[in-house]
Amino acid sequence: MTFIILLGPPGCGKGTQARTIQKERGIVHLSTGEMLREEVAAESAVGKRAKRIIESGMFVADDLIIELVANRIKKLDSQVGVNLDGFPRTLPQAKALDKFVESNQLRIDKVIEFVADDNAMLKRISGRYSCLTCGEGYHQDFDKPKLAGVCDNCGSTNFQCRTDDTVAITRSRLKDYHLRTEPVITYYSGKDILYKINGMLSLEEVKQQIDKVLGP
Ligand code: AMP
Repeated sequence: MTFIILLGPPGCGKGTQARTIQKERGIVHLSTGEMLREEVAAESAVGKRAKRIIESGMFVADDLIIELVANRIKKLDSQVGVNLDGFPRTLPQAKALDKFVESNQLRIDKVIEFVADDNAMLKRISGRYSCLTCGEGYHQDFDKPKLAGVCDNCGSTNFQCRTDDTVAITRSRLKDYHLRTEPVITYYSGKDILYKINGMLSLEEVKQQIDKVLGP
């Protein structure tokens, strides 16, 4: 089973590329942000615990997110692979993931870091929205649906903006990324499984870099 991790600041396009990887290669996309938003929408115990934290752009507790990810990976029936988007975000999460993969006879194959500029991420995030039905991501200036108001992927006409996509909250998410997630990048670089790509390029160019890293 292929096991990949996408790391990068909020707004760098990890989710969009992860959905493409899933479509083209069958590698299951697991986004911890999406998992948490589903828990919040379902008003589960986890959702109730995480709601205010997510809305304020802070990180939820390591133990909560580690358990959520481990349970989800265990339930996966995909033999093809898994692609983690948004996890691990802290060093304790990365170390817990290592323990999990080891005890389940798995191996992290590749960690792809999207390198991107904070100011550009702020611009991207302030105009982004997604399809309420299938989650396909769009941007009001850079990535509109082909037919205005209709999702390219599923034809839905319902869209949503994330409550944590404001400028103030994004600034704080970027700060946390540098402070708490960059040590994770250093951690994987020491394990020789880290691949850096330029996240400032167009969707297609970023995809080409990912295809090169993942191979045929
Ligand atoms: P995302 O969709 O990846 O931007 O995540 C949205 C929000 O979910 C984050 O701002 C955090 O509040 C929470 N979250 C997602 N993944 C994690 C994680 N690995 N560790 C802690 N909090 C997370």
